[in-house]
Amino acid sequence: MKKKILSVLSLGLGILVSTISFSACKIDRPLHIWSQDWSSNNVYHWHACTDNGCPAKDEATIAKHEFELISTDKAATCSAEGKGRYKCSVCGYEKDDVIEKLPHSLTLTSTLLAPSCISPGLGNFKCTVCGESVKEQTIEPTGAHIYGSSYLNDENNHWHKCIADERCTAIDAVAPHKAGLARTTQPNGWLDGKIDTPCGDCGYIMKTEVIPNKKAPVSYDLQFTAGGTTVSLIPGEEEYDGKPTYKINLVAGTVYKTQLVNAVNADGEELNLAADISWFIGTGTDTHGLRVYLRNDRSGSETLIEKYSTYGGITWGNNSSDINFIVSKGEYTVIFRYQTGINDNNYHTGSIRVEHVVRITAA
Ligand SMILES: [Zn+2]
Ligand SMILES: [Zn+2]
Ligand SMILES: [Zn+2]
Ligand SMILES: [Zn+2]
Ligand SMILES: [Zn+2]
Repeated sequence: MKKKILSVLSLGLGILVSTISFSACKIDRPLHIWSQDWSSNNVYHWHACTDNGCPAKDEATIAKHEFELISTDKAATCSAEGKGRYKCSVCGYEKDDVIEKLPHSLTLTSTLLAPSCISPGLGNFKCTVCGESVKEQTIEPTGAHIYGSSYLNDENNHWHKCIADERCTAIDAVAPHKAGLARTTQPNGWLDGKIDTPCGDCGYIMKTEVIPNKKAPVSYDLQFTAGGTTVSLIPGEEEYDGKPTYKINLVAGTVYKTQLVNAVNADGEELNLAADISWFIGTGTDTHGLRVYLRNDRSGSETLIEKYSTYGGITWGNNSSDINFIVSKGEYTVIFRYQTGINDNNYHTGSIRVEHVVRITAA
């Protein structure tokens, strides 16, 4: 009886002890002792607990196999899979599996959309190995930029831009500006002159120096001549538009030349002022009605100046300093205007200008 109790007791103790050690391994993770060898299934490998019957896996080691092809039974082509043996490079697990098809060796057969340097195109291809057609596949961008010969610039540099694709931002040959030949524009009596220093490559104006304009004439003579005889101007009593007027008696049908001569400014500079505009503002009669003809002595053509025309302009150009004109019988009021910069559209502003209002009586 005593013996039986003891053996039951020792059996109980034994169960208790083994239960305790088993539980500690299973529950309390630091007590697992991980194998240095790999365990695996067909997908994963891991380090297992060395305790027999303990199902724990070292989670830090669980990973998918990393298969490498170690031998080929049947080589893959671009049209058929192959067959080979793979081995995990970590745990050594091996398996047989297919070898994926090789990519086709494509050659372009027709271009549907040409690629640019940065944009893909679209084309039909054919495999040079198996002959299979592959339609509407991407054609890789060419990467070949084409740089224009014209320059873009900012205040410091110039460069060429790729012109192969308008969305391409590739630039080439970025370089700082380099001073080229200076360009001088002389003052013309109306606009200041300037000396521009452009970049010799791109034309960017790197520097501008102003050459101040000439000053207006302080003295000049307005002459009317016909057949070598000068007709004298008589100061008039009336005013036109706040300006003094002059009177002159002319012979109808005769060609008169009017010139502005000896125009000198306060700096003593002689100014070549060109005849610009005259317009008829008075009354008079001739065979054509109320009209004055002014004749261009270069071309010989006659220009009709209408009565009350606000712009009866005659422009002979910068180098012409005289007007030839014919009047019919009658009385006319004409503004003879000489100014610089007459080829510019804004001649009304700032130009050196001389105006004479002349009352012509032609008999
Ligand atoms: Zn364990
Ligand atoms: Zn493995
Ligand atoms: Zn192929
Ligand atoms: Zn480009
Ligand atoms: Zn430049």
